[in-house]
Amino acid sequence: VVLPPETESFDELDLSPVMREAVAEAGFTKPSPIQAALIPYALDGCDVIGQARTGTGKTAAFAIPILEQLDSLEDCRDPQAIIIVPTRELADQVASETARLAHGVPTEIAVLSGGKNMNRQLRQLENGVQIVVGTPGRVHDHLQRGTLRLDKAWCVVLDEADRMLDIGFRPQIERIMRKCPRNRQTLLLSATLPPVVRRLAESYMSDPTVIDCCQNEMAVDTIEQRYFTVENNRKVELLEQLLEREDPEQAIVFCRTKRGTDRLSRQLSRIYHGACACIHGDLQQRERDRVLQSLRDRKLKLLIATDVVGRGIDITTISHIVNFDVPQDCDDYVHRVGRTGRMGRDGIAFTFVVPGEGEMLTSIERRINKELIRDSLDGFEP
Ligand code: ADP
Ligand code: MG
Repeated sequence: VVLPPETESFDELDLSPVMREAVAEAGFTKPSPIQAALIPYALDGCDVIGQARTGTGKTAAFAIPILEQLDSLEDCRDPQAIIIVPTRELADQVASETARLAHGVPTEIAVLSGGKNMNRQLRQLENGVQIVVGTPGRVHDHLQRGTLRLDKAWCVVLDEADRMLDIGFRPQIERIMRKCPRNRQTLLLSATLPPVVRRLAESYMSDPTVIDCCQNEMAVDTIEQRYFTVENNRKVELLEQLLEREDPEQAIVFCRTKRGTDRLSRQLSRIYHGACACIHGDLQQRERDRVLQSLRDRKLKLLIATDVVGRGIDITTISHIVNFDVPQDCDDYVHRVGRTGRMGRDGIAFTFVVPGEGEMLTSIERRINKELIRDSLDGFEP
């Protein structure tokens, strides 16, 4: 297991002049710990399992070495790297962060995700692509149709690797990996990598280097984490008062179900009108894209969401997270809360706990190795 080295500048990382210019242009002054640790191994062609807290630049940690080693489209028309992520929104985001780091160097990046125009993806693949960013279902679909060839893919990235290898995605991921060359490089990243996932991951990799920037400290220390105990039928009232007290710059409120998300969004729209919207998997992709874009454009103050935006989404102006319903498991908690406090920024997260959910609270605290602060509001029992 490798610990992050002390690296003060991108100059220490043996990057090309173009790449150094690109990171400067992106406003990155020094590499984050995961970038400092992972980039040299990735440039050496090693397989890496990398764990680092939410919002610490894992995307650039894999995008930089890929871009550094990419052949031009004239030399290779088939994808050289494939990055697989769990959601469509995350695919778009990872593709645009990668394009930004390609800075001025023409780079063909195809996003292969569901809910999007198939013909456009087919045309793009036909014209030649260097990097694919995709979701498991659509990538697998293209492989089956024979419209995507991965035999030139020397690098495979599983972002949010623990999610990609859980039972829902694993069969597709395994089939995708089998289509890639045996001597490829495999990079796995997440803020949460339970030992069982690490062991499983090793079966897809050759002698991987494990980089652990967390050291069991999952909690991002710039995120204040609080909880309320509340009766189920008073949650909406509590939320309204909390939002009034906090006056967040922008907030994401997580609910357990799509229906609950819809309902809460309707209730809050009475106060927030157009500044509140919801997102979940039953909405049309066009609507999901529109909602997330208005959040990025700061037209929305409040997003009511399911875990579909629980992982990976990077919107630096999100100041507040509310777990209106406690998450299903402790790792989901880590990811939801990690939508704020990105790259050293401050953030605050609240979790509503109803009677009977005390054990869940305890296991979250054990998982993040930190106690949540008990909060209260007038009219609500402390
Ligand atoms: P993670 O995947 O670890 O949650 P992201 O890759 O989404 O984190 O990066 C979080 C934010 O930090 C993004 O807005 C990204 O552009 C920015 N970022 C990445 N690397 C650096 C850096 N070295 N310096 C400053 N900001 C960075
Ligand atoms: Mg990420």
